[in-house]
Amino acid sequence: MKEARVLYWFRTDLRLHDSPALQAALDLKPTVLYPIFTFDPHYVYHSKGSGNRWQFLLDCQNDLSESITKLNPKSKLFVLREAPQTVLPKIFKAWRITHLVFERDTDSYARERDRVVSDLARQAGVETVTRYGRTLWDSDAVAAKNGGKPTMSMAQLQAAGKKVGEIPRPIPAPKSLPDPGETPVDFEQETPDANPDLNAPVREGEFKPYKTGIAGPNGDFAPEVLEDLGFAPATTPHRGGETRALKMLDHIIADEEYAAKFQKPKTSPAAFEPQSTTLLSPHHHFGSLSPRLFYWRVQDLVSRVKGASSPPESLTGQLLFRDMYFAAQAAIGPTFTQTYDNPYCRFIPWHLPSKVESGTETGTNAISGEYHVDSPEAERWFQRWKAGVTGFPWIDALMRQLKHDGWIHHLGRHSVACFLTRGGCYVHWERGADVFEEWLLDHEPACNAGNWQWLSCTAFFSQYFRCYSPVAFGQKWDKEGAFVRRWVPELKDLDAKYIYEPWKAPQSALDKAGVRIEGNGLGSGKREEGTYPEPMMDFNERRKVCLDAMKTAYQVGINGDDERVKNGTWREL
Ligand code: FAD
Repeated sequence: MKEARVLYWFRTDLRLHDSPALQAALDLKPTVLYPIFTFDPHYVYHSKGSGNRWQFLLDCQNDLSESITKLNPKSKLFVLREAPQTVLPKIFKAWRITHLVFERDTDSYARERDRVVSDLARQAGVETVTRYGRTLWDSDAVAAKNGGKPTMSMAQLQAAGKKVGEIPRPIPAPKSLPDPGETPVDFEQETPDANPDLNAPVREGEFKPYKTGIAGPNGDFAPEVLEDLGFAPATTPHRGGETRALKMLDHIIADEEYAAKFQKPKTSPAAFEPQSTTLLSPHHHFGSLSPRLFYWRVQDLVSRVKGASSPPESLTGQLLFRDMYFAAQAAIGPTFTQTYDNPYCRFIPWHLPSKVESGTETGTNAISGEYHVDSPEAERWFQRWKAGVTGFPWIDALMRQLKHDGWIHHLGRHSVACFLTRGGCYVHWERGADVFEEWLLDHEPACNAGNWQWLSCTAFFSQYFRCYSPVAFGQKWDKEGAFVRRWVPELKDLDAKYIYEPWKAPQSALDKAGVRIEGNGLGSGKREEGTYPEPMMDFNERRKVCLDAMKTAYQVGINGDDERVKNGTWREL
């Protein structure tokens, strides 16, 4: 048999435990195994703003590199900075690679990139080996068993999953790793295209493409590299890495009652330090925790703890939701993350905010091909929502936590997503999804788009009359307003009676709390010390307007290709 010189390409699987792809690489009995990661300009250039997610990634890389070294002192994670489509063919040659092995990725950009890379590998005489490992079941297999259709409900996912077979048990981490070979990188390096996708905005910041190096505390890819990549320093307290993820999982499983009897709707979105759910989602995103390990450790408890919960509310049910969105994306393809050209997404003529009064043009090209109602007022609402200055303390607290920490509770996501779309602002869900993409540590195209579709009632869920109040919902969970006080310190001394509706507080209560209610928190009306903005709308009035509009949209069942949409005679809100 030919000597196997394996290039193991880490991407969505920054771990050593339960990695079917890594196992497949080791099954080749390689004489050398190169563990690599490539900083893909597609993600680096298109990523917006926050350094939080990038810090999490570096944490995962550094931890992985240390774990690799523990299994083989000669080996570390080798990090390359160039587009995989251009650098891998050079590596195949320079390092005399025979096999390229990686975990399958069903996101649309990744699928296309991997197709190109696999073609280049074939041309170079390199065999490509892939395994799924990012989800409980192989998303493509689930879609196939669902008749090639997207899984639009938990019942469909479970029925199709059953046909695929039992969720595999996790496989243990390897006990040793082969040596890496020499790693010469003295070949010509490509300068990445400054704007590889012409339709996508280029983020600002310098991306130095030529640096390659080793992850880990003594390597070139220590945390300082964040600045080098052009990202602002992280503000989140949540940090990455397989070692940390496994400890978190141990801690969760040790509390048997919590893990086995978990009921998502009963967990509080206002809980912090600690939060009420596991906060493992960023680890699933980066693959520092295998979803199957999580699933089986919980399921084994569920089998023996009396009164255990079951899907969809249970912890295992949460992972099934994740698989549902991945399989839906696998079936629909690249248009899954948008309304346009997505046959499963209901058309709703959201406001498409166009101009703010200051004259800054935004948004008009964001969602092409659909008819929308221009609304400068909605643009202002969107900006205030994003900045956490809506004047509704519950919404503002959540948006500020999201920006700072990169994570908010699922029901907090429900609140802010409903408020931005069908339950307040009537702004397009894709604009909200863009902000989540920017700030979430756990941002996953399938889960983000799918959940935004759910919350905006464009797909998955249709009970548009069930709306979250930005006042009563917070009150239900946290009467005293501890969560609001944590994230909206302007109101920290306000009487609990007014904490969710400060505009209703009498002057004496405001004076006592040392706060004035004025301005809009934006632009020239920027929030001054000791002030909190006025509410940006009469919520009860807006809820009624939105409900009427949703009702009409559902009755008409219009889609973006309809003539009335194209010629602008569609009923305007
Ligand atoms: P737990 O309740 O502890 O759940 C355990 C695991 O199950 C999570 O770690 C996560 O991997 C998975 N999970 C739980 N709920 C969901 C769900 N509804 N959909 C998919 N997977 C789920 N989740 C993401 O992973 N990435 C996203 O980009 C994302 N965007 C969202 C956008 C909106 C508008 C909403 C409403 C939800 C979004 N979610 C997303 C789903 C969910 O809010 C998060 O997965 C969850 O809050 C993560 O916290 P946790 O790890 O404590 O969850």
